[in-house]
Amino acid sequence: MPLMTRDDYIESLRKMKKRVFIMGQEVENTVDHPLVRPSLNACAMTYALAQEPEHAGLMLATSNLTGQTVNRFTHLHQNAADLVAKVKMLRLLGQRTGCCFQRCVGMDAFNAVDSVTYEMDRALGTEYHARFRRFLEHVQEHDLVVGGAMTDAKGDRRLKPSQQADPDLFMRIVERRPDGIVVRGAKLHQTGALNSHEILVMPTQTLAEEDRDYAVVCAVAADAPGILMICGRQPSDTRKLEGGQIDVGNREFGGHEAVIILDDVFVPWERVFMAGEYAYSGLLVERFAGYHRQSYGGCKPGVGDLLVGTAQSLAQYQGTDKASHVKDKIVEMVHLNETMYACGIACSAEGKRTASGTYLIDSLLANVCKLNVTRFPYEIARLAQDIAGGLLVTLPSEKDFTNPEIGPYLEKYLRSVERYTTEERCRMLRLLENLTLGPGAAAYLTESMHGAGSPQAQRIMLARLADLEEKMRLARRLAGIKERPVNTMQRGET
Ligand code: SF4
Ligand code: FE
Repeated sequence: MPLMTRDDYIESLRKMKKRVFIMGQEVENTVDHPLVRPSLNACAMTYALAQEPEHAGLMLATSNLTGQTVNRFTHLHQNAADLVAKVKMLRLLGQRTGCCFQRCVGMDAFNAVDSVTYEMDRALGTEYHARFRRFLEHVQEHDLVVGGAMTDAKGDRRLKPSQQADPDLFMRIVERRPDGIVVRGAKLHQTGALNSHEILVMPTQTLAEEDRDYAVVCAVAADAPGILMICGRQPSDTRKLEGGQIDVGNREFGGHEAVIILDDVFVPWERVFMAGEYAYSGLLVERFAGYHRQSYGGCKPGVGDLLVGTAQSLAQYQGTDKASHVKDKIVEMVHLNETMYACGIACSAEGKRTASGTYLIDSLLANVCKLNVTRFPYEIARLAQDIAGGLLVTLPSEKDFTNPEIGPYLEKYLRSVERYTTEERCRMLRLLENLTLGPGAAAYLTESMHGAGSPQAQRIMLARLADLEEKMRLARRLAGIKERPVNTMQRGET
C-alpha cells in the first residue's frame, strides 16, 4: 500500500531543502522548530489516523487511477459517498487537532484541476489532463502533502493583473521554453506551505485574454530553486517558545500560513496543467472554491465540538452547568455547529459526476455552507466566552502557579467546584483562549471568514445560483396568475 506512517512523513520533510524564514531569520530545520512543529503534528495526523483500522473507512480510499488503497487526501472523489466521507474525515481531524490540519487544500485542488483539465482538453485539444493524472499518480504513490496555492497578492483591487503597476502582483508566466515555463509571483495565506512536499499553483480569479500569461496551473517541488517561504505570525505565537505546558492552550497542535515567493521558478512541461487558457481560469477558481467551501462544513464543526466540550466542562468546573441559561447557550452552540455540518453533508450528498468522472459538490449548498461558516463560529465562540467568564483573559501565567510564594494563593483562590482541581480549570480556560483568541482563533474565526473566499464571494454565488425566475414561477402558479408570453416578460412589462 502506498501509505506513509506519521514518522515516515516527518522524516520525508526533514530531507527537503526548503528556504524558509521565520521572524526575520532563515531557518534550516523547520521540522523541530517550536513555532512550526505544532502545525507539522496536525498535518501528520492525516497520516496517523490513516493507520488506525477503525478510521480506515474515512481515511482511506481505492484509487480510480491505480486501484491501490490511498490516503483520502490524495483521492479523486468517485461518487457522492466519497464526498460525504471527506466531510466526516475532516470533522474527525478537527476534533483531534483543534486547528487547521492543512492537507485539504491540495485535495480540493486535485479534484478541481482534474475535471477542469479534462473539459479544457476536450474543448481545446490540449493535453493537460493526462499529464495531471500522471502527477496525481505520483502523489498517491508517495502519499505526498501538496499545498494548493491560489491567492495572489492582487495589488490594487480595481485593476486587472496586466494593468497593475507591478506586473508580478499576480503570478504569471515570464518565459516559455521548449522544456517548460518560468513563473514569477507570490501566493499569500498559504496553509501548510512548510509542511508540503509539492505546491500546486492556480490562478486566483477569472481572467481575460490580455491576462493569458496569468492563466497558469502547475506543480512545483516545495524546495525548488527560486521558492522562498515566509511564515506568518499568529496571536500569542511566542507562548510556544516559553516551554510551558498550560499557557499554550493546545500543547500539541496548531496551524500555519506562509507567503510563498516564486522568484523565476522553472517548471517542466510535464508539471504544467494550464498555460494561457484564460477562458478556463474562472471555472477552476469556482470549482476549487466550491470544494473548499464544502471542506469547512467538516473541519470547523470538528473544532466546534471541542468548543462545546470546553464550554460545558468549564460550566461543570465552575458550578454553572445546571443554570438554565447556560444549558440554553450550550444547546445554541450545538445547533449552530450541526447546522454547518448539515450543509457540508448536504452539498456532498447532492454532488454530481463531472465529465472526467470526478464528483463535484452542489455549488449552491456549498456556498450556503461556507456563508454560515463566516458567521456561526463567531457566535459559538461568543457563547463559549460568555459561559467561561472573565478569568479567560485575566488568568495568571503557569509560572505564577509554580512560584512557591504566590502559587499556593492562586491554587486556593482559583479553586471552584471542590471535586475539580485548579489546574483542570486553568487548562480548560487556556484551551478556550487558544481556540477563540489565540493561534486557534486564526483558523477557527478569521480563516472561517476569509478562507475559501470572503463572505461576499459566497453571496455573489448565491445570487447567481438561486434561480429567482423559477421561484417566481412557482409563486405565480400558486397565486393563480397566468403565465405571459415569454417575450413580454423578458422586456419586464409586467
Ligand atoms: Fe482543511 Fe479546514 Fe485547514 Fe482548510 S481550514 S485546510 S478545510 S483544516
Ligand atoms: Fe483554509
